[in-house]
Amino acid sequence: MADRIEDLRALLDRASYAYYVLDAPVLTDAEYDVLFRELVELERLHPERAGATSPTQRVGATPSQLFAPVEHASPMLSIDNVFDVSELDAWVDRLARLLGGEPTLFVELKIDGLALSLRYDGGLLVQAATRGDGRIGEDVTANIYVVDAIPKRIAYDAPLEVRGEIYLPRSSFQALNQDPTLKAPFANPRNAAAGSLRQKDPRVTASRGLAFFAYQLEEPTQFETHHEALAFLSSLGFAVEEHGSLVDQGQLFERVQQLDQSRADLDYETDGVVVKADRMVDRRRVGVTSRAPRWSIAFKFAPEEQLTRLLAIDISV
Ligand code: NAD
Repeated sequence: MADRIEDLRALLDRASYAYYVLDAPVLTDAEYDVLFRELVELERLHPERAGATSPTQRVGATPSQLFAPVEHASPMLSIDNVFDVSELDAWVDRLARLLGGEPTLFVELKIDGLALSLRYDGGLLVQAATRGDGRIGEDVTANIYVVDAIPKRIAYDAPLEVRGEIYLPRSSFQALNQDPTLKAPFANPRNAAAGSLRQKDPRVTASRGLAFFAYQLEEPTQFETHHEALAFLSSLGFAVEEHGSLVDQGQLFERVQQLDQSRADLDYETDGVVVKADRMVDRRRVGVTSRAPRWSIAFKFAPEEQLTRLLAIDISV
């Protein structure tokens, strides 16, 4: 069994490097998720084999050398996943237990792009960074300066950090993949977004039609709820995805299903929803693990990709 654990760790590490650093995945996301869950389960059954370097304990991958390193003011984390309604309910129950009462929940679409941190000071964009390994990201400021969808000047003078998802709209992705000068087509809009952002020449980034949704205000911290923070970001000119809403636990799964049904009509890819504690005081009380906040969970939509290839994956490759 120890070998299976080591094999899974090695395979997931290689897949993460291909996905995050090379922007050229060797597994589908659904394949990665199945193998990741198997590793989580094996580590749960064999706690003596747990280790801080396991992919289950880390975020992303080592940042590429192409860009200068940026140390994040607070870690940019991943989000734990659930895949069905019973796991979702169990997560809400656990959160309620930790808080000693029912949390107010906010549910929003999970945009399939890559996380970006934007820092402003004196009303000007001063730094843009990718998530990297969660602690150290890549400085992509020069490339973000040429992305029209991201505000360069805002009506707020004090330091501000906003985090969100940079993504490639489906329409831009289709147009890009028809470009005869591309060396090879991109596998999906997420990879195309990552490849377009992490270019040495910002003119290439500028031509790709990247877009951005803000989903988290890191600084200032005076807002008591997530929905107020999002309204503030929207008032400053950041695009905020319009389907987010407050929801009771009783209505949560119905809302998840509605979002799943309507996503095909959107011009951006979503791979699930993110459910978050709305009250900042609740977030502070439950905190984070080395990999993910305890106050949010991703409900992954059923994959559009087929899982059959999993059977053929040679784990020793
Ligand atoms: P994740 O993508 O499942 O979730 C965390 C990320 O969601 C955040 O960093 C943020 O960028 C994003 N996000 C989008 N909308 C959001 C919103 N509204 N609120 C908050 N965050 C939002 O986790 P991850 O750690 O980035 O990556 C793990 C996932 O990446 C895997 O589950 C798999 O699907 C994929 N992956 C695939 C491969 C592969 O080989 N295909 C390799 C590694 C990872």
